[in-house]
Amino acid sequence: MRYIAGIDIGGTTIKLGLFTLYGMLIGMDSVPTDISDKGSRIIRDAADGLKKLADASSVDLDDIEGVGIGVPGPVRTDGLVNGCVNLGWGLTDAAGEFSLLSGRPAKAINDANAAALGETWRGSAAGAASAFFVTLGTGVGGAFVSGGKVITGTNGAGGEIGHITVNRTETAYCSCGRRGCLEQYVSATGILRAVRAALDAGEPSNLSGLQKITGKDVFDAAKNGDALCLKAVDNVCGILGEALAMTACIVDPDIFIIGGGLSGAGDFLIEKVTESYKEAVMYPCRDTPIVAASLGNEAGMYGAAAQWLKFD
Ligand SMILES: [Zn+2]
Repeated sequence: MRYIAGIDIGGTTIKLGLFTLYGMLIGMDSVPTDISDKGSRIIRDAADGLKKLADASSVDLDDIEGVGIGVPGPVRTDGLVNGCVNLGWGLTDAAGEFSLLSGRPAKAINDANAAALGETWRGSAAGAASAFFVTLGTGVGGAFVSGGKVITGTNGAGGEIGHITVNRTETAYCSCGRRGCLEQYVSATGILRAVRAALDAGEPSNLSGLQKITGKDVFDAAKNGDALCLKAVDNVCGILGEALAMTACIVDPDIFIIGGGLSGAGDFLIEKVTESYKEAVMYPCRDTPIVAASLGNEAGMYGAAAQWLKFD
């Protein structure tokens, strides 16, 4: 029997998964991420973790064909990790170091790309030839997967839907240094900014007077009929649906997947985004499904491993 492994290195936890080549998860573990000393022990801890996991799963390390390593930073075309602020890393050969320590071949992948690949392999888009994945968190990430590969493009910006311009009159700046990006409205940060502005303008809401508001609070209040929150959610879903409609004109995927913290709003969000998408999209793409991600925070671990598979 042959196996593949996926390791997702996050700012607080390293998740490890051992899979058969058919995608069955046969063992899983996690260890804390030690970010002291510029994260110099992270790769060693990951390699030790995999050895332990293989032992516990009665798998011979030599039977692991390859190991994928998801990292919270950009991965260059030559496979080097181009810095991870959360881990304290500068330019790092994570895959090379891991290979030396474990004796197994390894490949690094950006964590958002890994999540997209994971959802396409074993999650909401399993079986789809292509999928466009959007994550709604503090920011807005995106990735296009086709034929089992993430299409990252010449500059690594392929799929970065969060930075398409949706408002030419915006005066506030986006994290990318430009103005009017999708991320400024559709992220948790963007929704809260809109809700705060409405509250400050004196619009009535069940959330007024609260010191701390989360994206989930806004969606929950909207579900319960809070007019201010419903307006904010409708606006966000409208903008996102239109952005997906534009995306369909370029890559025309089999399916759209929405992940990240805000996707916890489930059908409430999906139905509103779909409605806006259908209104805005060109006719041939009107029935493309829009679904919520299903692997949660394990998607990256699945996708890191899936780099070793060949898809037809
Ligand atoms: Zn931007």
